[in-house]
Amino acid sequence: MSNDTYTIQGTPGITAERFVAIRRELHRFPELSNEEFETTRRIRGWLEEAGVRILDVPLATGLVAEVGGLQGGLVIAFRADIDALPIQEETGLPFASTHPGKMHACGHDFHTAALIGTAYALKARESQLKGMVRLIFQPAEEKAKGARQVIDSGALEGVQAIFGMHNKPDLPVGTIGIKSGPLMAAADGFVVEIAGRGTHAAVPEAGNDPIVTAAHLVTALQSIVSRNVGSLESAVISVTKLHSGTAWNVVPEQALLEGTIRTFDEEVRQRVLKRFEEVVQGVAAAFGTTAAIRWIEGPPPVLNDPALAELGLAAAEAAGYRAVTPVPSPAGEDFSWYQREVPGLFVFMGTDGPREWHHPAFDLDEQAIPVSIGFFVKLAELALDGQQREVGRKEGALR
Ligand SMILES: [Zn+2]
Ligand SMILES: [Zn+2]
Repeated sequence: MSNDTYTIQGTPGITAERFVAIRRELHRFPELSNEEFETTRRIRGWLEEAGVRILDVPLATGLVAEVGGLQGGLVIAFRADIDALPIQEETGLPFASTHPGKMHACGHDFHTAALIGTAYALKARESQLKGMVRLIFQPAEEKAKGARQVIDSGALEGVQAIFGMHNKPDLPVGTIGIKSGPLMAAADGFVVEIAGRGTHAAVPEAGNDPIVTAAHLVTALQSIVSRNVGSLESAVISVTKLHSGTAWNVVPEQALLEGTIRTFDEEVRQRVLKRFEEVVQGVAAAFGTTAAIRWIEGPPPVLNDPALAELGLAAAEAAGYRAVTPVPSPAGEDFSWYQREVPGLFVFMGTDGPREWHHPAFDLDEQAIPVSIGFFVKLAELALDGQQREVGRKEGALR
Protein backbone atom coordinates (compact mmCIF):
# COMPACT_ATOMS: atom_id res chain seq x y z
CA MET A 1 0.00 0.00 0.00
CA SER A 2 1.30 3.48 -0.88
CA ASN A 3 2.23 6.10 1.65
CA ASP A 4 -0.79 8.29 0.98
CA THR A 5 -2.95 5.83 2.90
CA TYR A 6 -1.06 7.22 5.87
CA THR A 7 -3.02 10.47 5.74
CA ILE A 8 -6.45 10.64 7.29
CA GLN A 9 -8.94 11.17 4.47
CA GLY A 10 -10.23 14.73 4.24
CA THR A 11 -8.44 15.88 7.37
CA PRO A 12 -5.43 18.00 6.43
CA GLY A 13 -2.83 18.32 9.13
CA ILE A 14 -3.67 15.05 10.87
CA THR A 15 -1.37 12.23 9.88
CA ALA A 16 -1.65 8.57 10.71
CA GLU A 17 1.87 8.45 12.15
CA ARG A 18 0.48 10.10 15.28
CA PHE A 19 -1.94 7.25 15.87
CA VAL A 20 0.63 4.60 14.99
CA ALA A 21 2.79 6.12 17.74
CA ILE A 22 -0.19 6.02 20.12
CA ARG A 23 -0.78 2.35 19.28
CA ARG A 24 2.85 1.56 19.98
CA GLU A 25 2.80 3.34 23.31
CA LEU A 26 -0.32 1.42 24.34
CA HIS A 27 1.33 -1.79 23.13
CA ARG A 28 4.39 -1.16 25.27
CA PHE A 29 2.33 -0.77 28.47
CA PRO A 30 -0.49 -3.36 28.41
CA GLU A 31 -2.85 -3.67 31.37
CA LEU A 32 -5.26 -6.50 32.23
CA SER A 33 -9.06 -6.26 32.45
CA ASN A 34 -10.29 -3.70 35.01
CA GLU A 35 -6.69 -2.69 35.76
CA GLU A 36 -6.44 -0.23 32.85
CA PHE A 37 -5.63 2.81 35.05
CA GLU A 38 -2.53 4.02 33.16
CA THR A 39 -4.16 3.24 29.82
CA THR A 40 -7.17 5.37 30.82
CA ARG A 41 -4.88 8.19 31.93
CA ARG A 42 -3.08 8.09 28.57
CA ILE A 43 -6.33 8.08 26.56
CA ARG A 44 -7.63 11.02 28.61
CA GLY A 45 -4.43 12.98 27.93
CA TRP A 46 -4.57 12.38 24.17
CA LEU A 47 -8.25 13.35 23.97
CA GLU A 48 -7.74 16.48 26.06
CA GLU A 49 -4.89 17.47 23.77
CA ALA A 50 -7.38 17.59 20.89
CA GLY A 51 -9.98 19.41 22.98
CA VAL A 52 -12.39 16.45 22.95
CA ARG A 53 -15.05 16.64 25.72
CA ILE A 54 -14.71 13.89 28.31
CA LEU A 55 -17.96 12.94 30.03
CA ASP A 56 -18.31 12.49 33.75
CA VAL A 57 -19.15 8.79 33.87
CA PRO A 58 -18.73 6.56 36.95
CA LEU A 59 -16.19 4.06 35.58
CA ALA A 60 -13.08 2.99 37.53
CA THR A 61 -11.22 2.34 34.27
CA GLY A 62 -12.14 3.26 30.72
CA LEU A 63 -13.77 6.54 29.73
CA VAL A 64 -16.45 8.08 27.57
CA ALA A 65 -16.02 11.21 25.41
CA GLU A 66 -18.21 13.12 22.99
CA VAL A 67 -17.79 15.08 19.76
CA GLY A 68 -20.50 17.11 18.02
CA GLY A 69 -23.19 19.21 19.51
CA LEU A 70 -26.16 19.82 17.24
CA GLN A 71 -29.25 19.70 19.47
CA GLY A 72 -32.02 17.47 18.23
CA GLY A 73 -29.72 15.43 15.99
CA LEU A 74 -29.00 11.76 16.33
CA VAL A 75 -26.65 10.40 18.99
CA ILE A 76 -24.44 7.55 17.80
CA ALA A 77 -21.64 5.75 19.62
CA PHE A 78 -18.35 4.11 18.67
CA ARG A 79 -16.75 1.62 21.03
CA ALA A 80 -13.13 0.47 21.39
CA ASP A 81 -11.94 -2.03 24.01
CA ILE A 82 -8.72 -1.15 25.85
CA ASP A 83 -7.58 -4.21 27.86
CA ALA A 84 -4.74 -6.69 27.30
CA LEU A 85 -4.19 -10.40 28.07
CA PRO A 86 -2.09 -12.43 30.54
CA ILE A 87 0.28 -13.64 27.80
CA GLN A 88 4.08 -13.35 27.59
CA GLU A 89 4.85 -11.50 24.34
CA GLU A 90 7.07 -13.23 21.76
CA THR A 91 6.97 -10.80 18.83
CA GLY A 92 10.44 -9.34 19.27
CA LEU A 93 9.04 -5.95 18.19
CA PRO A 94 10.98 -2.82 19.23
CA PHE A 95 7.81 -1.63 21.00
CA ALA A 96 7.01 -5.01 22.62
CA SER A 97 5.37 -5.18 26.04
CA THR A 98 7.49 -3.97 28.95
CA HIS A 99 5.07 -5.60 31.42
CA PRO A 100 6.15 -9.24 31.96
CA GLY A 101 3.35 -11.74 31.34
CA LYS A 102 1.02 -9.12 29.81
CA MET A 103 0.43 -8.41 26.16
CA HIS A 104 -1.93 -6.70 23.73
CA ALA A 105 -2.40 -10.03 21.94
CA CYS A 106 -5.93 -9.26 20.79
CA GLY A 107 -5.10 -5.91 19.16
CA HIS A 108 -7.14 -3.76 21.55
CA ASP A 109 -4.25 -1.26 21.40
CA PHE A 110 -5.06 -0.94 17.69
CA HIS A 111 -8.80 -0.49 18.36
CA THR A 112 -8.04 2.22 20.93
CA ALA A 113 -5.58 4.10 18.68
CA ALA A 114 -8.08 3.99 15.79
CA LEU A 115 -10.85 5.41 17.97
CA ILE A 116 -8.58 8.18 19.24
CA GLY A 117 -7.77 8.96 15.59
CA THR A 118 -11.51 8.99 14.85
CA ALA A 119 -12.01 11.45 17.74
CA TYR A 120 -9.31 13.74 16.32
CA ALA A 121 -10.74 13.60 12.79
CA LEU A 122 -14.32 14.19 13.98
CA LYS A 123 -13.18 17.04 16.23
CA ALA A 124 -11.60 18.70 13.19
CA ARG A 125 -15.02 18.78 11.49
CA GLU A 126 -17.18 19.12 14.60
CA SER A 127 -19.13 22.15 13.33
CA GLN A 128 -20.30 20.12 10.32
CA LEU A 129 -21.54 17.13 12.33
CA LYS A 130 -25.32 16.81 12.25
CA GLY A 131 -25.55 15.23 15.68
CA MET A 132 -23.49 13.79 18.48
CA VAL A 133 -20.84 11.07 18.43
CA ARG A 134 -20.09 9.35 21.72
CA LEU A 135 -16.72 7.60 21.99
CA ILE A 136 -16.63 4.68 24.42
CA PHE A 137 -13.24 3.39 25.58
CA GLN A 138 -14.37 0.19 27.28
CA PRO A 139 -12.47 -1.77 29.94
CA ALA A 140 -12.45 -5.55 30.55
CA GLU A 141 -13.62 -6.97 27.23
CA GLU A 142 -11.46 -10.07 27.71
CA LYS A 143 -13.41 -10.94 30.86
CA ALA A 144 -16.70 -10.13 29.09
CA LYS A 145 -17.52 -7.70 31.90
CA GLY A 146 -16.69 -4.25 30.54
CA ALA A 147 -19.67 -3.68 28.24
CA ARG A 148 -22.09 -4.22 31.12
CA GLN A 149 -20.04 -1.89 33.33
CA VAL A 150 -20.33 0.78 30.62
CA ILE A 151 -24.08 0.19 30.21
CA ASP A 152 -24.59 0.33 34.00
CA SER A 153 -22.68 3.64 34.09
CA GLY A 154 -25.42 5.22 31.96
CA ALA A 155 -23.03 5.97 29.09
CA LEU A 156 -25.45 4.56 26.53
CA GLU A 157 -28.30 6.91 27.45
CA GLY A 158 -29.75 8.63 24.40
CA VAL A 159 -27.62 6.57 22.00
CA GLN A 160 -29.58 5.44 18.93
CA ALA A 161 -26.97 3.27 17.22
CA ILE A 162 -23.59 1.83 18.20
CA PHE A 163 -20.62 0.79 16.06
CA GLY A 164 -17.50 -1.22 16.81
CA MET A 165 -14.82 -3.30 15.13
CA HIS A 166 -12.33 -6.07 15.73
CA ASN A 167 -9.08 -6.46 13.83
CA LYS A 168 -9.03 -9.58 11.62
CA PRO A 169 -5.62 -11.12 10.87
CA ASP A 170 -6.83 -13.18 7.89
CA LEU A 171 -8.28 -10.21 5.96
CA PRO A 172 -5.97 -7.89 3.99
CA VAL A 173 -5.57 -4.23 4.91
CA GLY A 174 -8.20 -2.11 3.17
CA THR A 175 -10.78 -4.92 3.35
CA ILE A 176 -13.64 -4.77 5.85
CA GLY A 177 -15.86 -7.70 6.78
CA ILE A 178 -19.45 -6.43 7.06
CA LYS A 179 -22.56 -8.54 7.44
CA SER A 180 -26.09 -8.37 8.75
CA GLY A 181 -27.12 -10.86 11.48
CA PRO A 182 -24.78 -13.11 13.50
CA LEU A 183 -21.05 -12.32 13.40
CA MET A 184 -19.65 -13.75 16.64
CA ALA A 185 -20.83 -16.47 18.96
CA ALA A 186 -22.46 -16.65 22.35
CA ALA A 187 -19.73 -18.04 24.61
CA ASP A 188 -21.07 -20.04 27.55
CA GLY A 189 -18.84 -22.00 29.92
CA PHE A 190 -19.76 -25.01 32.05
CA VAL A 191 -18.44 -26.86 35.08
CA VAL A 192 -19.95 -30.31 35.78
CA GLU A 193 -19.28 -32.06 39.07
CA ILE A 194 -20.14 -35.75 39.08
CA ALA A 195 -20.59 -37.39 42.45
CA GLY A 196 -20.25 -41.20 42.63
CA ARG A 197 -19.36 -43.69 45.33
CA GLY A 198 -15.74 -44.69 45.74
CA THR A 199 -14.60 -48.25 46.19
CA HIS A 200 -11.67 -50.63 45.71
CA ALA A 201 -10.86 -50.80 42.00
CA ALA A 202 -11.08 -54.58 42.16
CA VAL A 203 -14.65 -54.43 43.52
CA PRO A 204 -16.36 -51.80 41.32
CA GLU A 205 -19.81 -53.29 41.94
CA ALA A 206 -19.58 -51.98 45.50
CA GLY A 207 -19.51 -48.36 44.27
CA ASN A 208 -20.69 -46.02 41.48
CA ASP A 209 -17.82 -45.02 39.23
CA PRO A 210 -17.87 -41.28 38.31
CA ILE A 211 -15.13 -41.85 35.69
CA VAL A 212 -17.48 -44.08 33.67
CA THR A 213 -20.12 -41.30 33.81
CA ALA A 214 -17.55 -38.69 32.74
CA ALA A 215 -16.29 -40.82 29.84
CA HIS A 216 -19.82 -41.38 28.53
CA LEU A 217 -20.61 -37.69 28.94
CA VAL A 218 -17.69 -36.53 26.80
CA THR A 219 -19.05 -38.47 23.84
CA ALA A 220 -22.80 -38.16 24.63
CA LEU A 221 -22.53 -34.35 24.72
CA GLN A 222 -21.35 -34.36 21.10
CA SER A 223 -24.67 -35.95 20.12
CA ILE A 224 -26.32 -32.59 20.93
CA VAL A 225 -24.46 -30.98 18.03
CA SER A 226 -25.09 -33.91 15.66
CA ARG A 227 -28.69 -34.78 16.69
CA ASN A 228 -30.32 -31.63 18.11
CA VAL A 229 -28.80 -28.87 15.96
CA GLY A 230 -29.95 -28.61 12.34
CA SER A 231 -27.60 -28.98 9.40
CA LEU A 232 -27.93 -25.26 8.57
CA GLU A 233 -27.59 -24.21 12.21
CA SER A 234 -24.37 -24.37 14.17
CA ALA A 235 -23.04 -25.05 17.64
CA VAL A 236 -19.76 -26.10 19.21
CA ILE A 237 -19.42 -28.08 22.45
CA SER A 238 -15.86 -28.60 23.71
CA VAL A 239 -14.93 -30.43 26.91
CA THR A 240 -11.60 -28.84 27.81
CA LYS A 241 -10.89 -30.18 31.27
CA LEU A 242 -11.44 -33.62 32.82
CA HIS A 243 -10.18 -34.41 36.29
CA SER A 244 -10.69 -37.44 38.48
CA GLY A 245 -8.96 -40.01 40.62
CA THR A 246 -5.91 -40.31 42.85
CA ALA A 247 -4.52 -43.85 42.41
CA TRP A 248 -4.48 -46.85 40.02
CA ASN A 249 -6.36 -49.11 42.39
CA VAL A 250 -9.08 -46.77 43.70
CA VAL A 251 -12.45 -45.92 42.14
CA PRO A 252 -12.79 -42.23 43.08
CA GLU A 253 -15.74 -40.38 44.59
CA GLN A 254 -15.86 -37.52 42.09
CA ALA A 255 -15.11 -36.37 38.57
CA LEU A 256 -15.01 -32.85 37.16
CA LEU A 257 -15.61 -31.67 33.59
CA GLU A 258 -15.24 -28.16 32.21
CA GLY A 259 -15.72 -26.71 28.77
CA THR A 260 -17.51 -24.26 26.53
CA ILE A 261 -20.55 -24.01 24.27
CA ARG A 262 -20.62 -21.63 21.27
CA THR A 263 -23.80 -20.74 19.39
CA PHE A 264 -24.80 -17.97 16.95
CA ASP A 265 -28.52 -17.84 17.58
CA GLU A 266 -30.43 -17.31 20.83
CA GLU A 267 -33.01 -20.03 20.09
CA VAL A 268 -30.28 -22.57 19.24
CA ARG A 269 -28.39 -21.48 22.34
CA GLN A 270 -31.36 -22.11 24.64
CA ARG A 271 -32.05 -25.47 22.97
CA VAL A 272 -28.42 -26.60 23.35
CA LEU A 273 -28.25 -25.48 27.00
CA LYS A 274 -31.49 -27.35 27.77
CA ARG A 275 -30.28 -30.54 26.04
CA PHE A 276 -26.94 -30.22 27.82
CA GLU A 277 -28.71 -30.32 31.21
CA GLU A 278 -30.86 -33.28 30.12
CA VAL A 279 -27.93 -35.30 28.79
CA VAL A 280 -25.79 -34.62 31.86
CA GLN A 281 -28.55 -35.57 34.29
CA GLY A 282 -29.64 -38.57 32.21
CA VAL A 283 -26.15 -40.04 31.81
CA ALA A 284 -25.29 -39.40 35.46
CA ALA A 285 -28.48 -41.18 36.58
CA ALA A 286 -27.90 -44.09 34.19
CA PHE A 287 -24.68 -44.96 36.04
CA GLY A 288 -26.00 -44.37 39.55
CA THR A 289 -24.16 -41.08 39.99
CA THR A 290 -25.40 -37.49 40.38
CA ALA A 291 -24.30 -34.34 38.60
CA ALA A 292 -24.31 -30.64 39.43
CA ILE A 293 -23.88 -28.09 36.63
CA ARG A 294 -22.52 -24.59 37.16
CA TRP A 295 -22.85 -22.18 34.22
CA ILE A 296 -20.30 -19.48 33.44
CA GLU A 297 -22.51 -17.09 31.51
CA GLY A 298 -20.77 -15.50 28.56
CA PRO A 299 -21.90 -12.70 26.25
CA PRO A 300 -24.81 -13.34 23.85
CA PRO A 301 -24.11 -13.62 20.09
CA VAL A 302 -23.04 -10.49 18.17
CA LEU A 303 -26.11 -9.78 16.00
CA ASN A 304 -25.80 -6.97 13.49
CA ASP A 305 -28.73 -4.73 12.61
CA PRO A 306 -29.63 -5.10 8.87
CA ALA A 307 -30.07 -1.34 8.25
CA LEU A 308 -26.78 -0.54 9.96
CA ALA A 309 -25.01 -3.25 7.95
CA GLU A 310 -26.29 -1.48 4.79
CA LEU A 311 -24.94 1.78 6.19
CA GLY A 312 -21.59 0.09 6.85
CA LEU A 313 -21.41 -1.13 3.23
CA ALA A 314 -22.21 2.39 1.99
CA ALA A 315 -19.52 3.88 4.25
CA ALA A 316 -16.89 1.38 3.07
CA GLU A 317 -17.69 2.16 -0.54
CA ALA A 318 -17.72 5.93 0.02
CA ALA A 319 -14.36 5.73 1.81
CA GLY A 320 -12.87 3.65 -1.00
CA TYR A 321 -12.41 0.37 0.87
CA ARG A 322 -13.38 -3.15 -0.12
CA ALA A 323 -16.24 -4.77 1.77
CA VAL A 324 -16.53 -8.56 1.98
CA THR A 325 -19.03 -10.87 3.66
CA PRO A 326 -17.02 -12.29 6.57
CA VAL A 327 -17.15 -15.82 7.91
CA PRO A 328 -18.64 -15.55 11.43
CA SER A 329 -16.18 -16.23 14.27
CA PRO A 330 -16.96 -18.72 17.06
CA ALA A 331 -15.12 -16.44 19.48
CA GLY A 332 -17.19 -14.37 21.91
CA GLU A 333 -17.26 -10.55 22.08
CA ASP A 334 -19.06 -8.50 24.73
CA PHE A 335 -20.03 -5.80 22.18
CA SER A 336 -23.17 -7.97 21.96
CA TRP A 337 -24.42 -6.57 25.29
CA TYR A 338 -24.73 -3.11 23.69
CA GLN A 339 -26.71 -4.66 20.85
CA ARG A 340 -29.23 -5.87 23.42
CA GLU A 341 -29.80 -2.17 24.29
CA VAL A 342 -29.59 -0.38 20.91
CA PRO A 343 -29.16 -1.41 17.25
CA GLY A 344 -25.49 -1.99 16.54
CA LEU A 345 -22.97 -2.91 13.87
CA PHE A 346 -19.73 -4.77 14.58
CA VAL A 347 -17.29 -5.27 11.70
CA PHE A 348 -14.03 -7.11 11.04
CA MET A 349 -11.19 -4.78 10.00
CA GLY A 350 -8.54 -6.42 7.82
CA THR A 351 -5.11 -6.23 9.50
CA ASP A 352 -3.17 -8.91 7.63
CA GLY A 353 -1.60 -10.37 10.77
CA PRO A 354 0.81 -13.32 10.96
CA ARG A 355 -1.05 -15.03 13.84
CA GLU A 356 -4.53 -15.46 15.22
CA TRP A 357 -5.90 -13.51 18.20
CA HIS A 358 -4.38 -14.40 21.62
CA HIS A 359 -1.14 -15.81 20.15
CA PRO A 360 2.14 -14.67 21.82
CA ALA A 361 3.42 -13.59 18.37
CA PHE A 362 0.18 -11.78 17.41
CA ASP A 363 0.76 -8.60 15.40
CA LEU A 364 -0.98 -6.48 12.78
CA ASP A 365 -0.29 -4.14 9.88
CA GLU A 366 -0.51 -0.59 11.21
CA GLN A 367 -1.65 0.72 7.83
CA ALA A 368 -5.05 -0.52 8.98
CA ILE A 369 -5.15 2.38 11.47
CA PRO A 370 -5.86 5.11 8.86
CA VAL A 371 -8.24 2.72 7.09
CA SER A 372 -10.20 2.28 10.33
CA ILE A 373 -10.30 6.01 10.98
CA GLY A 374 -11.41 6.73 7.40
CA PHE A 375 -14.16 4.12 7.68
CA PHE A 376 -15.41 5.29 11.10
CA VAL A 377 -15.49 8.96 10.05
CA LYS A 378 -17.46 8.13 6.91
CA LEU A 379 -19.78 5.90 8.94
CA ALA A 380 -20.39 8.72 11.43
CA GLU A 381 -21.10 11.20 8.63
CA LEU A 382 -23.52 8.87 6.85
CA ALA A 383 -25.24 7.83 10.09
CA LEU A 384 -25.78 11.44 11.14
CA ASP A 385 -26.83 12.51 7.66
CA GLY A 386 -30.54 13.22 7.19
CA GLN A 387 -30.94 11.04 4.13
CA GLN A 388 -29.45 8.04 5.87
CA ARG A 389 -31.73 8.67 8.80
CA GLU A 390 -34.67 8.12 6.43
CA VAL A 391 -33.10 4.83 5.29
CA GLY A 392 -32.63 3.83 8.91
CA ARG A 393 -36.18 4.79 9.80
CA LYS A 394 -37.57 2.68 7.00
CA GLU A 395 -35.51 -0.32 8.09
CA GLY A 396 -36.27 0.07 11.75
CA ALA A 397 -32.90 1.26 13.02
CA LEU A 398 -31.69 4.80 13.72
CA ARG A 399 -35.11 5.97 14.84
ZN1 LIG B 1 -9.43 -11.32 22.86
ZN1 LIG C 1 -10.42 -8.79 21.21
